[in-house]
Amino acid sequence: MHAFLPAHIQVLERGWLSSNNIVFAQADVPTVVDTGYVSHGEATERLLDEALSGRPLARIINTHLHSDHAGGNARLQRRHGCRVVIPPGLRDAVDAWDEERLSYTPTDQACERFTYDEVLRIGARIELGGQEWDVLPAGGHDADMVMLWNPREGVLISADALWRNGFGVIFPELAGESGFAEQQATLDLISQLAPRLVIPGHGAPFTEVDDALSIAHARIRWLAEDPKRNVDNALKGLVAFKLLDRRRMPREEVQDLIERHLLTQRGIRAVIGDDTEPLTDWVINQLVRVGAARLEDDALVAR
Ligand SMILES: [Zn+2]
Repeated sequence: MHAFLPAHIQVLERGWLSSNNIVFAQADVPTVVDTGYVSHGEATERLLDEALSGRPLARIINTHLHSDHAGGNARLQRRHGCRVVIPPGLRDAVDAWDEERLSYTPTDQACERFTYDEVLRIGARIELGGQEWDVLPAGGHDADMVMLWNPREGVLISADALWRNGFGVIFPELAGESGFAEQQATLDLISQLAPRLVIPGHGAPFTEVDDALSIAHARIRWLAEDPKRNVDNALKGLVAFKLLDRRRMPREEVQDLIERHLLTQRGIRAVIGDDTEPLTDWVINQLVRVGAARLEDDALVAR
């Protein structure tokens, strides 16, 4: 699998509930980039043990602190006593464990509390697997997200800034802040770098970078034209995420998620109002229509 990956990088491809784990095992400082969602912690621990062939993990680096990227931090910290390195911007929120600012409350997602040892600096060079990587800004999906760039090998760890087919929801816009322009700038930066290989936060690593970039450029233009599109995506995405974890959600639970969590975001409320009945119906129908779920006794069931 992933025959075009440099030999010193392993990508544990995980899906949508958990981000990929990118492992640098043969190194002085065995490191993993991103740790998945909390409910997958046991699998993350086991997969990492295999990838590291029993060596202890020395360091976790997070591209950003969303629950599906940092959810395994606490567990791995406990098991390995490893260092945790986080992007700049949310250190105070982690210190105080402010689940509102860390996005876990507004999304109704869980993340076990962890501590950090170090904060990345934008523009700095770090060593990963015996090679140098640049820490680059990646605003858009998350204002504080970073990407990691290996100029020698032309490899980009793009987090949720660029996937093979799109990128993550533009969260700052949901909170009534700017995000479309930042995502555009991040895509421009990736175009300039012209990576040979992209390792995304979700999905398989890919080399069809030009095609992915043109899809992403078209998509950000389309989203920026009408903010409702980003909100619609967010509602579907966040309910689908919750459903992946819960496997079954009665209708009231879907409505509750929308009412008590998602609608607390002023960027969402501003666009769709607060009439949650029709909204709940709409989200449920959408998820069934795209085949992400089926309806069973008025409950959504994950496919
Ligand atoms: Zn994310």
